[in-house]
This record gives sequence, C-alpha cells and structure tokens, in this order.
Amino acid sequence: MDVQVYKFGGVAVGSAEALQRAVERAGKAETPLAIVVSAMNGVTDLLLGAAEAAVKRDRTRATAALDEFQRRHEAVVDQIFTSKRSAAPLKATISRASAELRAMTESIAVLAELTPRASDAIVARGELLLAAIFVELLAASSIDAELVDPQQVIFTERRLGSVWPSFAKCERAAKKILRPILDSGRIAVVPGFLGSGPDGELVTLGRGGSDLSAAILGRSLSAASVTLFKEVDGLMTADPASVPQARVIPELHYREAAELAYYGAKILHPRTIIPLADRKIPLTIRNAFHDDAGGTRISSTAPAGEYPVRALTAIRGQSLLSIEGKGMIGVPGIAARTFTALSDAGHSVSMISQSSSEASICMVVPAAEAKHATEALDRAFELERRLKLIDRVRAESGMALIAVVGLGMQHRVGISARTFAALAAEGVNIVAIAQGSSELN
Ligand code: ASP
Ligand code: MG
Repeated sequence: MDVQVYKFGGVAVGSAEALQRAVERAGKAETPLAIVVSAMNGVTDLLLGAAEAAVKRDRTRATAALDEFQRRHEAVVDQIFTSKRSAAPLKATISRASAELRAMTESIAVLAELTPRASDAIVARGELLLAAIFVELLAASSIDAELVDPQQVIFTERRLGSVWPSFAKCERAAKKILRPILDSGRIAVVPGFLGSGPDGELVTLGRGGSDLSAAILGRSLSAASVTLFKEVDGLMTADPASVPQARVIPELHYREAAELAYYGAKILHPRTIIPLADRKIPLTIRNAFHDDAGGTRISSTAPAGEYPVRALTAIRGQSLLSIEGKGMIGVPGIAARTFTALSDAGHSVSMISQSSSEASICMVVPAAEAKHATEALDRAFELERRLKLIDRVRAESGMALIAVVGLGMQHRVGISARTFAALAAEGVNIVAIAQGSSELN
C-alpha cells in the first residue's frame, strides 16, 4: 500500500495544542505513515545558545538555557497528561535528557572547546526528545507507533564540505527498518534533522534540516507523497512581509520550488526537492493550523499557469564583489582563480556575472562575508594587482538580490523588459544582472 510521509515543523509541535492537532492528524491518515518531527520551535536555538555559553564558560547562561529546555517540554507534558501518574514516565525521560545535556555542557565548559560533533550531539536532543514525547502522545490516543533511531535510517557522506545523503544506503535501511514497522500497521516516528555521518557519528542536516529528513524518507520508502506541516499556508508569490498582496502559490514545478528555496523563501530547506524530483514524488507544504488553506503542491506535473512569472524574491544584506582590470581581457584562468580563491576561503557565491569584454567579473556574497572574501581575492591576485593587470578588487555593500522565477518565462518575450521598467519606475538602480540560460530565474 502507498506510504505517506508527514513532517511536523517546530511550530507544529511547539505547544500542547499543536501537538494534539498533530496526533489527531496522524490518527486520521488512511495509509501507512512515517512521521518526521522537528524540535519545538526555538529549542534548537536554545541548545546552540547553551553550547556557545558553555564554551565561554558562562555557566549561568548555559544552565538557564537548559532549565528553559526542560521547562518547555515539561509544560507541554503537564498540559496534555493531566494526571500525575500518566505524566510521570515522560517527565522522567525529560529530566534524563536534561541531565545529559547538563553533563555535556559541563564538559564543554571544562575543556573550553566546542567541536562540531559536540555541538551536533547537543542540538540533536531537541528532535530526539520531542520524537520520544510524540510516540507517547500517539500511544495515549491508542495509535500504535514506534520511535526510530535516525542514525539507523538516514546515512550521509561528506561532499563538497557538507553532509549529503547516501541514498542507496538510506533505501536499504528503509526496507530493513521502516517497512516492517509500517507493514505491522504501526506509524514510524523519526526525529528529523539527524543522521549518521561517514564514521557512524551523529550528524545534523543543517538548519531546517527536518524538511530534508522527510524528503529522504519519502524517497527511501517510494512514498506516494510527502507533506510538510508548517506554520505557513505555503510558498508565496513574494515575501508577505514586504508585499502585502502576496498570495500562496497552489502548484509549483520542482525546478521552480528549488529556485525559491535557494533564493530566500526561507520556508523550505534548499535541498528538500533533490531526493524527490527524479522519483516524481510530490511534496506538499500545508499549514498545520489552517485546514482549509490548500497549501502548495510541488511536483513534476504542475501546470504552467496563467502567468509566466510564479514568484519574486529579494534577499537583502548582500555585497557585490568585483574584480576589474583591462589586463584581464583575453587572459584565461582569471575566473577559475577567482572562484577557487573564494571557495578555499569558505565562501559560497550566489549570482555571478561577467561583462563580455572580460574587463570585470562580479559576484554576490552576504555582506557579512564581504571583507573576508575581498581579502582572499586580494591575496590571490597580488601579483596582477602589482603589475596593474587588475585595477582593483572591491566590495559594494547595501545590495539586495532580486530574483524573478518561473518556468513559464521560457521563450516568452518581454519579461525582462517589464522587470527593468518596473524597477526603473521606482528609481531602483540595477548594478548587475544574470539570467540562467534555462530562463527559469
Ligand atoms: N530543529 C532544527 C532547526 O531548527 C531542524 C528543523 O527544525 O528542521 O533548524
Ligand atoms: Mg524548523
């Protein structure tokens, strides 16, 4: 039978009320179900704050954060289980998790060192504890569920400096571990955001990574669909904070959604689409709290729609780096060295543009990285700068990056003319432009 994967985000599990809604929803599912849960909203930040305070030996702040961690989980359990006796086992689990966290932060304080592994081990508690609570809540509603260790079903390798799922391994694990649970009529509950690294160590999948967990499991199980329950109605035509008339986009193609996830829609982990697209598994984003809101369905079959442009995005706080010089004209390797220097210095660039005269190359990085990135380029081209082949490397801050996204723009004439006319009408100066040859963005 077709499997579904549900993911409940931080706000969707962030209160007793939200948790009860999630449990009810799980109970109503008609097909075998795997559920991914985030930590309660704010908990990941709380735990990161505790780790950072610990490494600075600020024990007061670390303790306060962990007390808050314990208090928030206990409050939820107290609200749901009104009898002391039924709350007791979960309260014991919460105090055990909190005690372990205190021990971990204390060792960080003693060593005054916070390794990525230690940090991952600490933040992981948010998802691990919430998932344990969720399974008990399901049981209290007579829904059979089993807690799954995320390190047994999500395997990752290191690629290009970040963790990346090993899909074949994940699929084998799903057959061995998840299938039997689903076949026996139980719900598999998997803490999101976590997996096993190349050495079998616990790793995290990056902020917002439980979206990616759900997509990986959807692929591993050949699910009929993956649904992310969030605190928003779906992906929007623009950021409603700056465009009040923004609307939810009911249907999107995978490629459009991937562009939006990269370009600051902040609603989807940018890699969520990757595990699903080649398997054509549809992904739906729905509001956990508004049942009538239709949500956004992302698939390979999204109809082109009436408008060629699906969405607009803007990312503020960017810097434009440029390398300029007449001595660069016709010289091979300048671009290669530019991007090598930036990547060696740990910068990921977004937009890139080069004038066809080759007299300048420019690229966008977050403004906070501009100084470090400029220094890396200055070093890489020290000789050329001395010989005046390169006039200068400069960074202009106070930039915003705007993207116009939509598959329907392919072969449509006039979209860029309208874009530029609209910006000009508002007196906005455009400093650099790039369009992918796919005409999607
Ligand atoms: N709890 C993690 C975070 O806040 C992962 C997630 O919520 O998806 O980033
Ligand atoms: Mg989240």
